[in-house]
Amino acid sequence: MKSNIEAFLNLVKERNNNEPEFLQAVEEVAETVIPYIVEHEIYNGKSILLRMVEPERVITFRVCWVNDAGEIQVNRGYRIQMNSAIGPYKGGLRFHPTVNMSILKFLAFEQVFKNSLTTLPMGGGKGGSDFDPKGKSDGEIMRFCHAFMSELFRHIGPNTDVPAGDMGVGAREIGFLFGMYKKLKNEFTGVLTGKGLSWGGSLIRPEATGYGTVYFAQKMLETKGQDLEGKHVVVSGSGNVAQYAVEKCIQLGAKVLTMSDSSGYIYDNEGINTEKLALIMELKNVKRARISEYIKTYPNSKFIKAKTPWEVKCDIALPCATQNELNDEDAKVLLKNGCICVSEGANMPSTIKAVREFHKAKILYAPGKASNAGGVATSGLEMTQNSLRFNWTRDEVDLKLKEIMANIHDSCIKYGKTEDGYIDYVKGANIAGFVKVADAMLAQGIV
Ligand code: NAP
Repeated sequence: MKSNIEAFLNLVKERNNNEPEFLQAVEEVAETVIPYIVEHEIYNGKSILLRMVEPERVITFRVCWVNDAGEIQVNRGYRIQMNSAIGPYKGGLRFHPTVNMSILKFLAFEQVFKNSLTTLPMGGGKGGSDFDPKGKSDGEIMRFCHAFMSELFRHIGPNTDVPAGDMGVGAREIGFLFGMYKKLKNEFTGVLTGKGLSWGGSLIRPEATGYGTVYFAQKMLETKGQDLEGKHVVVSGSGNVAQYAVEKCIQLGAKVLTMSDSSGYIYDNEGINTEKLALIMELKNVKRARISEYIKTYPNSKFIKAKTPWEVKCDIALPCATQNELNDEDAKVLLKNGCICVSEGANMPSTIKAVREFHKAKILYAPGKASNAGGVATSGLEMTQNSLRFNWTRDEVDLKLKEIMANIHDSCIKYGKTEDGYIDYVKGANIAGFVKVADAMLAQGIV
């Protein structure tokens, strides 16, 4: 078995040299899915996984725009259309200076499995640009988004490819992108999700990824007869996912001790309550300030510069910032401090070595493709509402989100429960995600 996996990974490495994040995501899937393929005749000898690691289409394009100083700027735009076996490509757009082919291919690959897990009819895709929204004026953001969509519009559509937000792309950016799409196509359709409520958006979409990550942690804790009440939680990030993960933790009676951004983390020993979270939302979403500003209003808290929060003693860790933000050393510290549950809000925030530490210690550990699937699931619900030209209430969407997270948890148990009763959520999520896509690919033939 080991040689099968190695041979496959070597082949993928040869064809995708210099794409470390993509290779990491493939390795994590191959380790659990190849043994399953070998054991199941129908998937054997069909090169299914080899087909799945090759994007159906990769689009790169030039994005030219003019900054406030009147200078011409040139960025690079991308859309990876990874797999459309079970539905139109679906996945977010990321605007961040670190964006490159490797990052977007890893995200698109993970998205295929994640979308399959939601049980909604969505294929996988991802896109974005190396554009850095930090420090840009609203006018600059608008001009960039318009320029970006002036090329992307020809490759997407409500039945072809439906992008959404990701890092650096929130409600403001989705608005500008949608405006240009509508103008160019002369049609009002659900081509993007994460839209404003008055023009086709869904209630709970902004909250969905963070809430879903906590609902998933709740389901995992239930398997041990526990809940979030009174638990100490350490959260990284202070963007969309982190903010709503914290909100849900507070609602469920947990004490949240940290939040972070790329400059460091804040540690509030008294716990981040609703009022304090409102300040963080204002700092990050309105003032677009750094998280360190928090300690000016709450001087009993601390700002720890240039570090991640994993050194803080906790019961539960929610990595909600970015990929590879939690390594094996961090994992060892978390475990030493008694952490019993890790639910990933971000995509691939734990390195492969960190995941091995969690598995070795047999704690509750959920990979992002399972635990953060609530965001894309609610995007799927937004697509349904757009098609029906109908809106569900907040409670209806929240209930559906909870049900979807519970179903994903069940699927992970179905495919991930090991002989000694430990639930390997990585194995469970990978195989459950794989089966649905692979079955569709087999049914559709070699295309
Ligand atoms: P966001 O609103 O842009 O926030 C990102 C947060 O991560 C910010 O606080 C940012 O800090 C921090 N961050 C970025 N790079 C970092 C680094 N190298 N070290 C430490 N912190 C860093 O993005 P988001 O939508 O919350 O997304 C966060 C993660 O969740 C990403 O992995 C994304 O792919 C994943 N995700 C998002 C959704 C969704 O619906 N939005 C769905 C599924 C998964 P700065 O402000 O300093 O940059």
